Amino acid sequence: MAELFIGGEWIAARDGRIREIRCPADGTLVATVDEAGPQDAAAAVAAARDAFDRGPWPRTPAAERGRLLLRVADLLERDKDTLARAESLDTGKRLVESEYDMADIANCFRWFGGLTAAGDGGRVVDTGNPETDSRVVYEPVGVCALITPWNYPLLQTAWKVAPALGAGNTFVLKPSELTPHTAILLMRLLTEAGLPDGVANLVLGTGAEAGAPLTEDPRVDLVSFTGGLLTGRRVMAAAAPTVKKVALELGGKNPNIVFADADFDTAVDHALTAVFLHSGQVCSAGARLLVQDELHDRFVDAVVAGAREIRLGGPFDDSARTGPLISAAHRDKVEAYVAAGIAEGAVLRCGGARPDDPELRDGFYYPPTVLDECTPDMSVVRDESFGPVLTVERFRHEEEAVALANDTIYGLAGAVWTRDEGRAQRVAGRLRAGTVWINDFHPYVPQAEWGGMKQSGFGRELGPAGLAEYQEAKHIWRNLAPRPQRWFS
Ligand code: NAP
Repeated sequence: MAELFIGGEWIAARDGRIREIRCPADGTLVATVDEAGPQDAAAAVAAARDAFDRGPWPRTPAAERGRLLLRVADLLERDKDTLARAESLDTGKRLVESEYDMADIANCFRWFGGLTAAGDGGRVVDTGNPETDSRVVYEPVGVCALITPWNYPLLQTAWKVAPALGAGNTFVLKPSELTPHTAILLMRLLTEAGLPDGVANLVLGTGAEAGAPLTEDPRVDLVSFTGGLLTGRRVMAAAAPTVKKVALELGGKNPNIVFADADFDTAVDHALTAVFLHSGQVCSAGARLLVQDELHDRFVDAVVAGAREIRLGGPFDDSARTGPLISAAHRDKVEAYVAAGIAEGAVLRCGGARPDDPELRDGFYYPPTVLDECTPDMSVVRDESFGPVLTVERFRHEEEAVALANDTIYGLAGAVWTRDEGRAQRVAGRLRAGTVWINDFHPYVPQAEWGGMKQSGFGRELGPAGLAEYQEAKHIWRNLAPRPQRWFS
C-alpha cells in the first residue's frame, strides 16, 4: 500500500481510503490502491510548486532534460512486458494491443527526448536597431495538472508527461480512477531515470475528489485534460477564475467516408478496425460510416459479415479479437444508445444484445453492432457512445458526403476512401477535423500534431506544438546603448 507519489515519496491517502481495481474482462481483483482526496491533491500541488519554484528541474539545461527522457524511453522498453500486462489487467484490452501501446509510448518519450535535447536557444529578433539585442526565449509554464482517461491510460499520460518534462515543468498526474497501475509504474521509472523529487507527483482517485481540486488550485498554471466533453467543459470552467492555461483533448464522432470507387476489400477491412478496435473505446473511432449510395448494400453486407466474425474475450485469450467495455455503467450507456437508435428508426444489422457465452458472463462485454439506415438527427449518430457501435448513413455525391461528415459538434478525426486523388485531397481539405486519413484509418506518429477542432477541444499533443503547449514565450529586450529618452523632459 502507499501508491500516491508526492514530493518523491510513496505515501498513503490521508483519510486512509482505498479502491479495489477489478479487471473488466472477468471482474477479478487486480489490486487495491490508495484513493486520494482534496487534501492529498493539495499536498501534491504544493510539492510540484516547490519543485518548480526552488528545485533544479526548470533550470536544468534542455539537453540534459532531453537525455533524461531518452533514459525513460530505454526503461519503458526494458519493462514493456510488465507494463503491458498491467495495462491489460486494468483496461481488459487484449495483451497484444497493450504491447503496441507500450512500443508507442517508448517512441513518444524518445521523440520528445530528441526534440528537447536539440535545445531551443530562443529566437533573435531583428528590431532594425543595431543598439538593441532582442530575443524570444521559451520557458516552462510552471505546475501542470495532467488528467487522463481509462481507454489508453499510459499512452495518453505519455503524450502529456514527456513534453511537460521536456519543457522543464513540474506536474501532478491524475489518471482515471479505474486504471491507475501503469501510472504508478511510470513514476518508478521516472525516479530511476534520475528525475528530481517533487517534479513528478501522482494522485489516484476520482475526478470529483482528486481531479477537480487540481483544476481549481491557484498554484497550478496549466491543466491538460483528456476525457469526455462534459468533463472538459467542467474543467474549463473550473480553470477560469485563476485563468489557467487549458488544453482539452475531448471526444469525437468521427466520419469514415467511403466512395464507390474505393478499394472494396481494403475499405471494408479498415472500416471494421476503425470502429471496433478496443471495442470502440477510442476517441478517434470511425463510428459514423458514410457510404456512397451505389456501394451501400454490398459494402454494409461485407462489414456486417466481418463484424459477426469478431470474437470477444479477455486480455490473454489469444483467439479473441477484442475485449470488454471498461465498466458496467459504460456498457449500460452503450446499450441505451443502441436502443435509442432503433427506436428512432435505425435498422439493427448485427450485435445489439449482450453475448450469452457463459465464459463472458463476468465481464462487461458487448458485441460489435451495426445500425443501418441512420440519419443525422439520431442520438446514436450525434453523441459519442464510445462503444462498438457503427452507424451507417448514405450519401449521393461529394458535396453531401462533406456536409454529413461535418454535421457534428465534434472535430477530432475522419477518413476518406477513394481512388480519385483529386477528390481525396478536396474532401480532406474540407473536413473540419484535427486529423484526416486518406485511404487509411487510425495511424499517428509522434512527429505530427494530434488534437481536435470544434468541441473535440483545443490545444495539440505530439509534434512540435505538443511541446510548445508546455512553454511560455518570453521576449527579452536589451538596450545596448542606454541613454535618456527625454520624452517628458
Ligand atoms: P472522463 O469521464 O471525462 O474522465 C477523464 C478524466 O477526468 C478521469 O481521470 C476522470 O476521473 C477525470 N475527471 C472527472 N471529473 C473531473 C472533474 N470535475 N475535474 C477534473 N477531473 C475530472 O472521460 P473517460 O470516460 O475517462 O474517457 C473517455 C473520454 O475520453 C471519451 O470521451 C474519449 O473520446 C476521450 N478521449 C479523448 C482523446 C483525445 O485525444 N481527444 C483520447 C482518449 C480519450 P475519474 O477517474 O473519476 O473518471
